[in-house]
Amino acid sequence: MTEPHARQSSALVPDMLALPRKTPDALPSLIGMTRARLRDALIETGVPEKQAKMRVGQIWAWLYQRGVQDFGTMSNLSKDLRATLAAHFRIGRPEIIERQLSKDGTRKYLLQIEGGHEVEAVYIPEEDRGTLCISSQVGCTLTCSFCHTGTQTLVRNLTASEIIGQIMVCRDDLGEWPEEGGNPGTGKRLLSNIVLMGMGEPLYNFDAVRDAMKIAMDGEGISLSRRRITLSTSGVVPLIARAGEEIGTMLAISLHGTTDEIRDKLVPINKKWNVETLMQACRAYPKLSNAERITFEYVMLDGVNDSDADAKRLVKLIEGMPAKINLIPFNPWPGAPYQRSSWERIEAFAEIVNRAGYASPVRTPRGQDIMAACGQLKSATERARKARPSEIN
Ligand code: SAH
Ligand code: SF4
Repeated sequence: MTEPHARQSSALVPDMLALPRKTPDALPSLIGMTRARLRDALIETGVPEKQAKMRVGQIWAWLYQRGVQDFGTMSNLSKDLRATLAAHFRIGRPEIIERQLSKDGTRKYLLQIEGGHEVEAVYIPEEDRGTLCISSQVGCTLTCSFCHTGTQTLVRNLTASEIIGQIMVCRDDLGEWPEEGGNPGTGKRLLSNIVLMGMGEPLYNFDAVRDAMKIAMDGEGISLSRRRITLSTSGVVPLIARAGEEIGTMLAISLHGTTDEIRDKLVPINKKWNVETLMQACRAYPKLSNAERITFEYVMLDGVNDSDADAKRLVKLIEGMPAKINLIPFNPWPGAPYQRSSWERIEAFAEIVNRAGYASPVRTPRGQDIMAACGQLKSATERARKARPSEIN
């Protein structure tokens, strides 16, 4: 990525005014900048080094606790500083192209990001929480055979700004920012949980996901406990330990198969890192305990991975590991080569896992009327080319 500030302030370019002025859209967004990056950027625009840390805290509070989108509102900063900020930065948000509201309250956002690309994020309200499912890439390099996103090739990684931007846009839409002068820290949070289970493989966009999640977990940032954030991976084994050390969120593994033979077909990354290697990485995940269990996601595909023998093998695989199994009834998409297992089958499978002492909630498909369920996301531009009209609603 280019770093315009570093260049502008370099000793080789002393006359900042001589530089061509950037259009507002081309300015770097403050959203998604790490504390360190923002501090450096402020110093480069002339903020005294001694003040920079405090300014970062003040700016973050405006951005992430109050949701302001205008530098003029940042009333505890001097007029001069506000003008400097406006000249060098923008407060970027992805643009909502379309918002669909399901009968069950689920909201699906189609968002446009730089370059005209589109990503989706889904907000799922429940009694005790509100979960936002966010994307980390446009498309995916992997080709899991039951996943709609997997039929779309990778277009590009999202930036940290675009990852955090999904949270900002959703909080805007929920009207979750405090009133002017109100206290940001009070009341029940509508957006209380985040799952990295939208489009893309988060560990293949490691740095941006890490930077974004640090902001999500920071008490002066979005301020969500790390236990309310779950990163789901298809099994990029060499990066699992690093995710534990550098990101530290809860972990979910897209297991879906209990033998290499089955998993090779469903989650082809298994050919690189097989079930045994994956299990070793899971057992070594830091802070693993009964309070912080790994979630194994298991999509229920009729006649493919849903037999009693599969359930027994699954229990054996995770033996002794603090874990829960999330059974996901397959969510169909046009042209998908699988069928969802019957409810009786799913219940029988869950029973075996439960009897072995593991919680195995069946994930109720949400937002089905708007194709918002797990694995149904795919950029609309891509989809519109092939879609049947009923798919878009
Ligand atoms: N790439 C990451 C995160 C995104 S997918 C991963 O694979 O883990 C989030 C979850 O939805 C994964 O467990 C994925 O396997 C599952 N999923 C994908 N397509 C699905 C479908 N059609 N029905 C149900 N679950 C699906
Ligand atoms: Fe990519 Fe995850 Fe879909 Fe596999 S399940 S194709 S890793 S988004």
